[in-house]
Amino acid sequence: MTVDAIIGRVPAPRTDELLGARPIWGSFIAGSFVQGEADTFDVLECSTGRHLARVANASVATVDRAVADARRAYEDVWRDMSPRERGSLMRQVAAVIREHAEELAELCAREVGKPKRDALRVDVVSSHTNFDYYAGIADTVHGEIIHQGPVEARVAYEPYGVVAAILPFNWPVQHLAKKCAPALAVGNTVVVKPGEQAPLAILRLIELANQVLPPGVMNAVNGMAAGPALIANSRIERVTFTGSTATGRKVMAAAAQHVTYVTLELGGKNALLVLDDADLDAAVTVAIEGMFYNNGMACTSTSRILVHDSLYDAFAERFVAAAGGLVVGEPLDSRTDIGPLVDRRQQDRVETYVNLTMDEGAKLLFEGELPEHPQWSGGFWVKPRIFGEITRANTIAREEVFGPVAALMRFSSDDEAVEIANDTDYGLTAAICTRDETRATRLATRLEVGMVFVNQYTRRTFVGSPFGGVKGSGFGREYSAETLHEFVRAKNVRFPSGHGEVPTWPPRG
Ligand code: NAD
Repeated sequence: MTVDAIIGRVPAPRTDELLGARPIWGSFIAGSFVQGEADTFDVLECSTGRHLARVANASVATVDRAVADARRAYEDVWRDMSPRERGSLMRQVAAVIREHAEELAELCAREVGKPKRDALRVDVVSSHTNFDYYAGIADTVHGEIIHQGPVEARVAYEPYGVVAAILPFNWPVQHLAKKCAPALAVGNTVVVKPGEQAPLAILRLIELANQVLPPGVMNAVNGMAAGPALIANSRIERVTFTGSTATGRKVMAAAAQHVTYVTLELGGKNALLVLDDADLDAAVTVAIEGMFYNNGMACTSTSRILVHDSLYDAFAERFVAAAGGLVVGEPLDSRTDIGPLVDRRQQDRVETYVNLTMDEGAKLLFEGELPEHPQWSGGFWVKPRIFGEITRANTIAREEVFGPVAALMRFSSDDEAVEIANDTDYGLTAAICTRDETRATRLATRLEVGMVFVNQYTRRTFVGSPFGGVKGSGFGREYSAETLHEFVRAKNVRFPSGHGEVPTWPPRG
């Protein structure tokens, strides 16, 4: 196929008009974009490296204003609305997201580098599903009365007030929804801080949501200084953070200043265990999706693929063949499986890991092809790679690469597989391929992770089941009913119950 034919099949972007109409994307506070913020940074198109949009860096004063306005909306409107009223508005937010699905998916594709096809099927669907789900269960967090003889406790579950939601770049609209929807459902208002590489889909979604929400309920501030400024604001009484483990440590330390409750969803170095009784083709399918989905820029990426000795060679051969069938291409092309990475820094980081792994003497089993065209020469492309015979001594067996680089490792017994899988500071996910469910259950209990996938690794939305890690992958659970309870705190008000005398001190008689 000629290069012009390749270019010709990429549809023209639909979001050019939106981007052209807005020279600067400011912070979004109390229902509108803030005008006149002079300090800006550029968001780039991942496939070309060209300028996509200018975004204003929020100053500390702007962040404080966002928090103050969010607090006002909390006290004046949102806190005292009935859960059903809040739920009804959140369902309207879900509907607006559905109406603008194409546009939001395209923004995600252009600023993150992920295939638009996947953004549409997964990111955007997850986004409106979260709003619908939490709208539906908003009224399930209610108080209780606990009788203890002459005294009764009336327990109310109260929102925190203003929640800071600090997000990474890799699933913009999905992360926004999984944090904001449960927080809003139980009466908090939010100030969102998007990842600076990819703030556009988030800002657009918040603008759309503000067509139905009261002003101040959902706000956004941008730029590197905004995260620390939010945590430093004493009116932020709850922080929910997703990002790297290194940043998570800083967030936790900063939150200690005001003793603020934090949720941390952090990095991963996840292991897929292909046991000796696995269905080989099914295991390859799991490995391909686990490893290469979202260009490998996934906290849940199965970047360590542990294969039993008896299957290792056959698996490696089929895995390489399957990887060779993946289409590396322009994110807007519906046939693309793997796009470019998010920015130059991420591209350099991944290439550094590849070079290091080569220097360590690892075996490069596969290197993919990149699309060639002058238009793409400035983009942040990285060839997908598979390394074989990786051991625990290799750097990529321990550190999160966050790109399309797979590490194949051998094991000879279930015990050894568990030992290798657990030999990491992280603990987000693991996957097991086996024909024996009992064996899978036994191993799952021994794996030090928050989630175990058996014989599948689908990224399709599973809202309603808890997601989160252990060890260096953080704590807190998202996407589930228990998440609602993480955004309220109990207040215990005690009354005489009318049953018997309330004991006093000092005792009389
Ligand atoms: P990052 O840690 O660099 O940044 C995340 C966010 O934190 C950004 O918005 C950034 O501006 C902000 N930030 C940076 N320094 C801060 C500070 N001192 N105080 C407050 N906020 C600060 O992460 P990234 O590169 O955007 O995302 C990739 C990382 O996120 C990977 O490690 C990945 O595994 C992780 N991740 C985890 C999950 C999960 O659910 N466990 C999901 C997606 C991504």
